[in-house]
Amino acid sequence: MQLKNKTALITGSTSGIGLGIARAFAREGANIVLNGFGDAGEIESLRAGIEREFSVPVRYDGADMSRADAIETMMAKAFAEFGSVDVLVNNAGVQHVAPIEEFPLAKWDAVIAINLSAAFHTIRLALPQMKARKFGRIINVASAHALVASPFKSAYVAAKHGIAGLTKTVALEGAEHGVTANAICPGYVLTPLVEKQIPDTAKARGISEAAVVRDVLLAAQPTKQFVSVEQVAALALYLASDAAASTTGTMIPVDGGWTAH
Ligand code: NAD
Repeated sequence: MQLKNKTALITGSTSGIGLGIARAFAREGANIVLNGFGDAGEIESLRAGIEREFSVPVRYDGADMSRADAIETMMAKAFAEFGSVDVLVNNAGVQHVAPIEEFPLAKWDAVIAINLSAAFHTIRLALPQMKARKFGRIINVASAHALVASPFKSAYVAAKHGIAGLTKTVALEGAEHGVTANAICPGYVLTPLVEKQIPDTAKARGISEAAVVRDVLLAAQPTKQFVSVEQVAALALYLASDAAASTTGTMIPVDGGWTAH
């Protein structure tokens, strides 16, 4: 039980990678704060299901990661309920696929707010108590797109490259206080975020949806396979552990060899 008596807050954990990380941390005994959107009944059954399966307290906070005030309230509630946030996973993310000259302004603002600025807010609020307790693990779920670009994803690539810079800066500021900050850089994982972008990518490139999966998504990955949620969660668990105390400021790909090209 590596995370017994620790509290982990995972943004965007009602689905996909965030949910996989929440489950992996609960299995190791952490108190969990879930966050994200979705159907209230489905979220409650997810929450209660994790609590029952792993015998850990699980809270849900529906804060909108595009709003600084909502993030402040979420963090304050987590501190009040559990006393600390020891492991912070910035995972909430959205995507929009369009050529730059047609990129809707509201989509640009939303992608930057949710995929980048939200992490600044959670980190600035979590860091003082992590430093005071001399322990903290900040794990940013970035992307292979923190390291390389793809056409038609300007906001996402800009936000993910931004997260890489934020991660390195936080690592330097936390280094003498027992606080590490690292970014996980997954390749394509077949979650709702990827499923939703297939039709738009087909439109932007003028090809079929099947061709998007074969010639765009999996073509990027030498393994020709999607990365699994469990593979990403296993790395997050390592980064949260005591064994990872000297691993900080890194961008670690889990991308089937994509960024080796
Ligand atoms: P997903 O769509 O399955 O999950 C996204 C989560 O974020 C959901 O819980 C959703 O409710 C939440 N969310 C979205 N907007 C929010 C908001 N404004 N406030 C609070 N929560 C919000 O997607 P996923 O693939 O699991 O993505 C998770 C992270 O992994 C994202 O940061 C994404 O960029 C990154 N990532 C995904 C892939 C992939 O191939 N799926 C690859 C690399 C990186």
